[in-house]
Amino acid sequence: MTTLFSRKLKLVLFVLSANLLPFSIGYAQQQVTAVQPSSANISQDLFAEIAQNNQLMLNLEEMCDGIGPRLTGSQQLRQAQQWAMEKLKSYGAVNVHEEAYELGRAWTRGVARVRLLNANGMLLDVQQQAWSDSSPRKTFAEVVVMNVKTLDEFKEIAPRLRGKIVLALSTPKATPEQEKNFKQYSDELNKAIRAADFAAIFFVSGREGNIQDMFGGPNTRYKKNAAIITKEHANLLQRLVARGITPKLEFEFGGRLSKDVVKAYNVVADFPGTELSDETVVLGAHQDSWDLGTGATDNGVGTVVTMEILRAMHALKLKPKRTLRVVLFSGEEQGLLGSKAYLKAHAAEQPKIQAMLTQDAGGGRITGFLDMKVDEWFASLNEAKEQTKELSHLDITYAAGGGSDHQAFFEQGIPAFAPIQDPLDYRSHTWHSQVDTVDHVSKDNLIQNAQVMAAMTWAMLNNRKLPHQAPQVLR
Ligand SMILES: [Zn+2]
Repeated sequence: MTTLFSRKLKLVLFVLSANLLPFSIGYAQQQVTAVQPSSANISQDLFAEIAQNNQLMLNLEEMCDGIGPRLTGSQQLRQAQQWAMEKLKSYGAVNVHEEAYELGRAWTRGVARVRLLNANGMLLDVQQQAWSDSSPRKTFAEVVVMNVKTLDEFKEIAPRLRGKIVLALSTPKATPEQEKNFKQYSDELNKAIRAADFAAIFFVSGREGNIQDMFGGPNTRYKKNAAIITKEHANLLQRLVARGITPKLEFEFGGRLSKDVVKAYNVVADFPGTELSDETVVLGAHQDSWDLGTGATDNGVGTVVTMEILRAMHALKLKPKRTLRVVLFSGEEQGLLGSKAYLKAHAAEQPKIQAMLTQDAGGGRITGFLDMKVDEWFASLNEAKEQTKELSHLDITYAAGGGSDHQAFFEQGIPAFAPIQDPLDYRSHTWHSQVDTVDHVSKDNLIQNAQVMAAMTWAMLNNRKLPHQAPQVLR
């Protein structure tokens, strides 16, 4: 017997018994009111519905294994968006549609082949950085190690970089003085990079064990033959240099930019509210991913959890006060492009956004939330977490953190929250890497994630209005 069924049964039994007591109407009415579904009951119903009927792993496998990586601007992401819209409609969502924004040029991965000619032509683990343009043919060049902190240091060594493969242990950063006029600094650095005219630049992956990293976007600074080399192979090149041997490489990159600029899209779907239906709780996750793995933990998890919450609320025929708005963002990995575009397109509705919630820290259990250092938000999260206490003890932490789509909302002053999760192997392995695959997601954790997010969302949909703040930049 599900919790929902037992609650309905209790209600029916009570109404029956109340009818048997016509002389004590006041008492009966009081009791009927008392058994109206409370938040606690609804949370328990949501927990049961999600535990028993969830489509979490199915959806994760369909999207990640079936459709695959979902780079913003790619056909694969478009396919995943169509898939998500069909699913959301089948879950009872209304107003399901896409919203377009200008991305710039799209980028498609091609071959990446790098050989170390000093060591019998062994292949090095190097991947082209996304949105970097390529030389159209095989290129031979020597490696120079670069370790600079400032623009001045860069300018000083720039003449030695011409025609070389730059192994970048660090890159120039703006000084506090340069930060004040960042545009001027940035233009000057871009000019110096162009003038240096190196053959390629390799950044070093931060992870051990041949784990790759990926980054880049339409506004990337290093535009040609930029790539990421694994730590072990970067160390190999450095050891050669330290012994006075100049590494010679042959490289070939085939990643390419589209000829024309393209649009990217966010998927939007609603589960309508009742008495405050013009107010929304935005439950968002980025559906785009990097393209070396299948984006299972970043952020397949958040995507399927978000979809599951709408499914469960509809299945239970819940009637929230406010409207649940599911948004599957794109362009998160290129700098929160989708969430920023959403906020711009919906600027007039921003005061009516009660809160934004996103889950984007891998596949670990949810252990708490950041309150974003706002006292009223802290109080509200604390109340909401009461609904989850039978699942987990959640810590509401006095801290503000960004790094995902909630940051764009927070910077507009909107209450915006992301959960803290068990780190598992997210930062060390799966995040942005080639091993971001379904293997690293457990069904039990996904269910816990969806249950906690559902209860917190339900509370935000129905609790008192949360105050907004003045817009600010999150540092
Ligand atoms: Zn992410």
